[in-house]
Amino acid sequence: MKILVSNDDGYFAPGIGLLAEALRQVGEVTVVAPERDRSGASNSLTLDRPLIVRRAPNGYFSVNGTPTDCVHIAVTGFLEFTPDVVVSGINLGANMGDDTIYSGTVAAAAEGYLLGIPALAVSLTSRTGEHFDSAIGVALQIVERFKRSPFSEPLLLNVNVPDVPPAELRGVEVTRLGRRHTAEPVVRLDTPRGETAYWIGPAGGAADAGPGTDFHAVDHCRVSLTPLRMDLTHNAQLPLVKKRLEQ
Ligand code: MN
Repeated sequence: MKILVSNDDGYFAPGIGLLAEALRQVGEVTVVAPERDRSGASNSLTLDRPLIVRRAPNGYFSVNGTPTDCVHIAVTGFLEFTPDVVVSGINLGANMGDDTIYSGTVAAAAEGYLLGIPALAVSLTSRTGEHFDSAIGVALQIVERFKRSPFSEPLLLNVNVPDVPPAELRGVEVTRLGRRHTAEPVVRLDTPRGETAYWIGPAGGAADAGPGTDFHAVDHCRVSLTPLRMDLTHNAQLPLVKKRLEQ
């Protein structure tokens, strides 16, 4: 099995190193990841300049672009094979609810999915990263299952793993995305040159976080597994918009 590993925290991040090494038990692993932290890059492609792929001493490839660039370049020309699965992570920090819109971790997996390859985005739901082994174990298990019995259609799985020891995980729950409250206000800063700068504030707390959501599962020490799609059509609003705006 050929596995393409990427992330948005950068090719040097602990989460991607541990993930890549663990996945070698299941298949042939290639790492193509951003040269610096591109968290929050979403599904962006770099179109205004060419990109360089560099080989690090440990064999990982770094790209001076976004997570989406990495997977796009890898699959559409850089690699001499088509990966059987794309695994993005392990992200340091949750990607639940609205986070998935902005997440580069999810975007790297989504790019694989859009190119017809099963993909998973794996995030550890804390900022301290004490129990990467828990997330690694989950990722490994899912990829092994993909290998044993492939799904009949490409799948984009968003996986959030509580940052607790493996023994404290209470199983896996298939969930839908919850929603967050509006983000915290931007932080105003005075620059040394007398200008005002703005630093994007943290995400809001969980708002729609009831049973069945990713927030609820993680809150109860369960691994959250959400199948995602990239079609943004609001199907329920089609009749209303047709009626009001179609001549
Ligand atoms: Mn990140």
